[in-house]
This record gives sequence, C-alpha cells and structure tokens, in this order.
Amino acid sequence: KQTQRLDKLLTHMGFGSRSDIKRQVKQGSVTVNGTVAKDSGMQVHPYRDRIEVEGETVNYKEFIYLMLHKPPGVISATEDARERTVLDLLDEEERHFEPFPVGRLDKDTEGLLLLTNDGKLAHELLSPRRHVPKTYEATVAGDVGEEDAARFAEGVELDDGYVTLPARLTLLSKTQTEGGPLSYISLVIHEGKFHQVKRMFEAIGKKVLYLKRTEMGPLRLDPGLPLGAYRELSTEELASLN
Ligand code: URA
Repeated sequence: KQTQRLDKLLTHMGFGSRSDIKRQVKQGSVTVNGTVAKDSGMQVHPYRDRIEVEGETVNYKEFIYLMLHKPPGVISATEDARERTVLDLLDEEERHFEPFPVGRLDKDTEGLLLLTNDGKLAHELLSPRRHVPKTYEATVAGDVGEEDAARFAEGVELDDGYVTLPARLTLLSKTQTEGGPLSYISLVIHEGKFHQVKRMFEAIGKKVLYLKRTEMGPLRLDPGLPLGAYRELSTEELASLN
C-alpha cells in the first residue's frame, strides 16, 4: 500500500468530507506520529504512520467484510428507488466503506449474505469456475423423498433448459399439516443461477415455501446473529476465504 493524502485516508475511515477534515486539521485535532498535522493534503502511509484524531488512534483498513443475516423483505442490491436494500440495514460506520452484496438472495429469502468492498474477493467467490458450495435450508410443500434426492444428484432441467450440476439434497424432517405434508430439507449447490433452489424444486413438481442460506464456501451463518443483524468476519473466517 502506497502513501496517500491525509484527508483522503480520513474520509475513507469515516471522519467526514475533505472540508470537514481540513477544518479538523486547522483546529489542530489531527496528529501524525505525535506531531500536529499542518496540511490536510500531506502524504501519509496508512499502516506505518500513526494517525490520531482528537487523541484517538485511527486503525486504518482498506476493506470491510460483513456477515449479514438477511431478513425477508429487503433486496440484495446497493440501491433501489422503491425497495429497502440490504445496505439500509448497515450503520453509517460500515456504509461509508461502500460494501456491496456478494451474490444475491431473493427478496423473500433469509440467511447468510456476505457484504464487502473487496471486488477481487467477490469476483472469485462468484466465479462460475470456482463452484463455491452454497447450503440452503428450505421448507417444501409435499413429501420430499429418495427419488428427489437422486434426481438432484443427477442434475435437473430448469424451465430455461439449463441442466443443473449435481446437488446434495437431504431430508431433515417432515410434518403433517391440515394443508398436507411439509418437508424440511437441506440442499448444497455449486452454482448460483437465478432463483436456482426454487426452480430446482419446480423442476420436480414441488414448491419452496421458505428458504434460508446457511453456508457459502467456508462461511457458516453465525447462529448468534438475529435476523437483520450483521458483524465483521473474524480473522479466521477471512483467512478461510483467501
Ligand atoms: N435460490 C433461490 O431460489 N433463491 C435464493 O434466494 C437463493 C437461491
């Protein structure tokens, strides 16, 4: 990482606009390696120089990696004229890093969604060649059985003619309701076509009533994260992605 302007670095870290920073520098609130900064345009090294604002050390980071427990009713986009997006769930503290969702979950789908501003990592996770496994849990109307698992293991033809890669379907449990049987399943897929899980079940004549993603590659949804909550990835989680 090269040196950069002090005001650029502090803006990236959420300390306000360039003119806000200029004012803070003028007031003598910013120090670099213990010396009061004179010029908000001075060159600093983001990791080697110790920068403080009002006595608080600035812990520089370029990238942000967030695990979100996506709730239903928000869309996996960065902005939308009408709908609430997953970015609306973030605090300003995270938002100014300009993260975006890595892949998409449908509006009504819940579960694990990674948000980052690291375009390279996002690209690699989404690359069709990488076949990153994704695990879903679903409630499906009707009786899901061995034959369905066998068909998913072979690959099924979607409504547009695409034949899916082998996927692992596991029946977790079943209940009887007045409306008929419900099956609770988990499904591991290695690709990410539009509405893939719902369309795979449609291909075998069944309907997904509820869908949640629990895993993506090495990442597993933190069971301690309530719907709509998020946290930064741990060092271990981040290392597992690279
Ligand atoms: N498959 C779907 O059908 N929907 C999702 O949101 C994710 C996978």
